[in-house]
Amino acid sequence: MSEKRQFKAIKGTRDILPPDSAVWNWFEQTARQVFESYGFRDIRLPIFEETELFARAVGAETDIVGKEMFSFFSQFTSDERFEDLEQRLHEELARDPGEEKIRALVDSNDPQIPGTLSQAAAKVRRSGESLTLRPEATAGSVRAYIEHGMHTLPGNQKLYYIGPMFRRERPQKGRYRQFYQVGAEVLGPSDAPGIDAEILEMLLALFNRVGLANTKLYINSIGCKDCRPAYVELLREELRKVKDQLGADSQRRIETNTLRVLDSKLPEEQPIIEKLPRISEHLCAACRDHFEKLKIELALREIVYEENWRLVRGLDYYTRTTFEVTAAGLGSQNAVCGGGRYDGLVEMLGGPAGVKGIGFAIGTDRAILSIQEGGNLPRLAGLDVFIAWMGAQAYPAAVRIAQKIRARGFSAELPPEEMKFRKSLGLADKLGARFALILGEDEAATSTYTLKRLADAHQEKLGEAALLDTLEAERKGTRA
Ligand code: ATP
Ligand code: MG
Repeated sequence: MSEKRQFKAIKGTRDILPPDSAVWNWFEQTARQVFESYGFRDIRLPIFEETELFARAVGAETDIVGKEMFSFFSQFTSDERFEDLEQRLHEELARDPGEEKIRALVDSNDPQIPGTLSQAAAKVRRSGESLTLRPEATAGSVRAYIEHGMHTLPGNQKLYYIGPMFRRERPQKGRYRQFYQVGAEVLGPSDAPGIDAEILEMLLALFNRVGLANTKLYINSIGCKDCRPAYVELLREELRKVKDQLGADSQRRIETNTLRVLDSKLPEEQPIIEKLPRISEHLCAACRDHFEKLKIELALREIVYEENWRLVRGLDYYTRTTFEVTAAGLGSQNAVCGGGRYDGLVEMLGGPAGVKGIGFAIGTDRAILSIQEGGNLPRLAGLDVFIAWMGAQAYPAAVRIAQKIRARGFSAELPPEEMKFRKSLGLADKLGARFALILGEDEAATSTYTLKRLADAHQEKLGEAALLDTLEAERKGTRA
């Protein structure tokens, strides 16, 4: 027998246990309610997609695609000649899923590796079987929109999703490898600024409803395919002039992902960045107009925001409107939501031309952390009734009344084995029950129940109908 060992959750992942899980459910449920009141509907997407989808949608030069993806091969060719090779590849890739490893294997002249390895590797690559745990859900939403011809549906499609995302990042407060997002997307023929403003309104309505305090909305416009390239070129030229004053990351990004330099948090780069040309002065007339109208739409909704010309976001697909919301209590990981417009993405992923899109993703982990830090957690409904039954004759009545209480939408705990009276009430108390329903042989014989409110020990003897009415009245009273 092998030695006994305990297993632990993988670094960067975590278990969300009760009672915390109730807070998560409440947050997600509130998001559903708010989003549905704006006409958004749930879309449930696969957790993994082709790696190439993310590479194309999010952008090969982004942090996400460049270094944060969890990729793997699902399936190897069914050709028997490749079986051993596949096993070998699989083991190697499990250790390091980077393409580099395959190449290294292919290129090595290891006599153990038959020459067919390169064929196998090529086949694996060709057949597009490299899969990735989704690092975000916009790519999948757009893939689904195209795959199901949703552009033929009337009007704009308003979708929301809730679920886990995966990024290989250094775990720290507010940053996990499996984290959760609640997001929304609007896809369709219109890019009216009113859409941008409405999803921002919806987002802030949710934050308001869940008591997320001290939020700050930042907005920017990063132009479109007509005006951004010229701006990026200008920026690149200016950055090359100051290259030797920049850190290694920014130096590299000048060539690979120029706009991202603006995102730098390095203190010594700040005075340099502040002097760089700003996109707002280089927007084309159509983008400038869109941004101006967005601000009018926001004013109409009394939405408070701050313009931040350096808000470029890490993903390649954004055009025009970008935004971010920060919240209190999160330290340096203070962004609880990011989003923006992605008008060209549908076409770029092989869909019909002319489809516009905008969306956001809220980081649920951080949102909940911030609400907790702010002490704004709601008192969530706990156990309603603990059924303290005693005596074998009382048990059948206890089972039946538990069914009836539960059918009315209350929660009831029914001990599966008889307990001593004191112990029973003690447990009711520890479980935080609001009522104990005392059911002894006397009560069972007369079809009555003693209902004891645990907060003040008030108790009364009731028949079944009166008992259910009392619970109902109590529920209404505490809700009002
Ligand atoms: P950051 O700059 O914090 O890395 P990001 O730009 O990578 O964020 P987005 O891709 O815009 O983030 O995702 C939207 C939101 O998802 C973020 O604002 C954040 O709240 C949350 N988020 C992103 N990555 C993580 C993570 N690793 N752990 C927890 N939450 C995350
Ligand atoms: Mg990130």
